[in-house]
Amino acid sequence: MPRPAIFLDRDDTLIENGSLPPEAFAARHHGDLCDPAWVRPLPGAIEACRRLARAGFALIVVSNQGLVARGHGTIDQVEATNDAMRRLFVDDQRRGLLAAIYYCPFHPIGRVPAFTREHTWRKPAPGMLLAAAAAFDIDLPRSWAIGDKPRDLESGRRAGVPDSNLLLVSAAFDLAAAADRILAASPSQ
Ligand SMILES: [Mg+2]
Repeated sequence: MPRPAIFLDRDDTLIENGSLPPEAFAARHHGDLCDPAWVRPLPGAIEACRRLARAGFALIVVSNQGLVARGHGTIDQVEATNDAMRRLFVDDQRRGLLAAIYYCPFHPIGRVPAFTREHTWRKPAPGMLLAAAAAFDIDLPRSWAIGDKPRDLESGRRAGVPDSNLLLVSAAFDLAAAADRILAASPSQ
């Protein structure tokens, strides 16, 4: 039976990015995080994921990583960074909470020819969410999308997530608050 998902942006939704010092970033390009040593879950994010996973949601990360196209990091570095995050987001039995991590290495303005183009996976396009929905038999009308940027929500909307289920996180409304909202709206989960 199809199950609902939470589509989660990575940077500044699950792990720190904007608050990190310049040395955390590839080529000191602010935002381009591809060093596993700098993976720091945001306060409360792991516990929020535990609550959502317990409620039956598939937790699926969808992340633009245009830094690969820019030549600031490699696929291997992005995957090592994602792996570091995967190892931190575990339940109290040390089982992984994240069903999958999708990322898009493409960007229309880049230096690495193989990755320099627009792509259906690059948010705000819905490609990553649609691929995950097919792979994990996801019920999109009962799913949610969470991110710190409008493009995160737009990708959810274009994939078929209801407008009411698009949540923009911020310092004032973090992932814990988002989890409260979702669980309050999902009594049968
Ligand atoms: Mg983000």
